[in-house]
Amino acid sequence: MSKIVFVLGAGASAHCGTPLMGNFLEVAEDLLRAGEVKEAAEDFRKVFDAVGYLHAIQSKARINTYNIEDVFAAFEMGKLLGRLPGIQEKSEIEKLTSSIKKVIGYTLERTTRFPHNTIQKGVNPPESYYEFADNIIDKIIEREKGCSVITFNYDLGLDYSLYARGILPDYGLGDIDLTNKKCVTYLKLHGSLNWGKCRSRNCGRIIPLIKFDELISKSGLDYSTIPIISRLKNRTCPSCKKPLGEDPFIVPPTWNKTAYHEEIEHVWKRAALELKDAENIFVLGYSFPDTDMFFRYLFALGVDMRTSLRGFYVYDIDSAVEERFQNLLSSGVSQRFLYQGLKFKDAIRREIIGWRADYMDLDTEYKTIPQILNIRYG
Ligand SMILES: [Zn+2]
Repeated sequence: MSKIVFVLGAGASAHCGTPLMGNFLEVAEDLLRAGEVKEAAEDFRKVFDAVGYLHAIQSKARINTYNIEDVFAAFEMGKLLGRLPGIQEKSEIEKLTSSIKKVIGYTLERTTRFPHNTIQKGVNPPESYYEFADNIIDKIIEREKGCSVITFNYDLGLDYSLYARGILPDYGLGDIDLTNKKCVTYLKLHGSLNWGKCRSRNCGRIIPLIKFDELISKSGLDYSTIPIISRLKNRTCPSCKKPLGEDPFIVPPTWNKTAYHEEIEHVWKRAALELKDAENIFVLGYSFPDTDMFFRYLFALGVDMRTSLRGFYVYDIDSAVEERFQNLLSSGVSQRFLYQGLKFKDAIRREIIGWRADYMDLDTEYKTIPQILNIRYG
């Protein structure tokens, strides 16, 4: 088990260009209008129609139809109950959960930016994720300490950065040979765009693609994208040779994860074990909404207060996040709790002397992660 655990939320991926939960559907609609998602246009339209029906029942119930998480959860609940406003056929409701996975998948695929390197004519990983892989994860591995990353994000910003740095992801799916390889435990609690599920009911394995050697660049843009979903469709399961399903394996980000329980249970158990043995936990860009019962329980059942949890560090520029985490922690841990009002990028910056972000209060002492872990450079 790793002594150092990083927990990442949407705020960590924001620098890659990915839309936020609150404007996700608007961005998806723009992509549809611009003809950027032709292969899934029908799925996009179906989702927007269903959102329209949900919106129309607002007088009866409160669902935030602008928030992709709420909409995904409503569709899942509709599938469970066999009811969704405006849609008569049960089979249509079931298809909607497949359509929304395509909407999420293609929207993230088309908006996650891998910037062009104009000097070397290549493609760079997203800057802050690469700094994280290079200056923190790699340095910890060098010191033979081991660390793990637990993320709520579906996108491939960090996956590609690890790939570019030559570090293999151990997704906890047991599918990648890691013997004598440089690797990091990387647990994606809500699934990932590069995970496909074997269609065979008897097998049903989740198969990750980890080579990102094909990127797409369009003229006039200064970044490339990774066409991962179309590649997943053409792959077969290595153990039973059946094709993979056409949707990426992603789980709705709500407490109601029971429908996916069997498939992703191993990943969640691994996450609980990692938290249990952690000496230092760093939470970055995860706002810990009140509705996230899953993390609350994962943390409460995972973290063993008897072990030597030395520090619990939360980095977020929204100071409301500080109080939410303080309420989560018991008094014993709260003495070791430190909130830092830093963005993801600034939390992992290695420049220690002579660097301060513009928004920082000059009188306040901030500590970056390399400072806390005493990582030295140069
Ligand atoms: Zn299979």
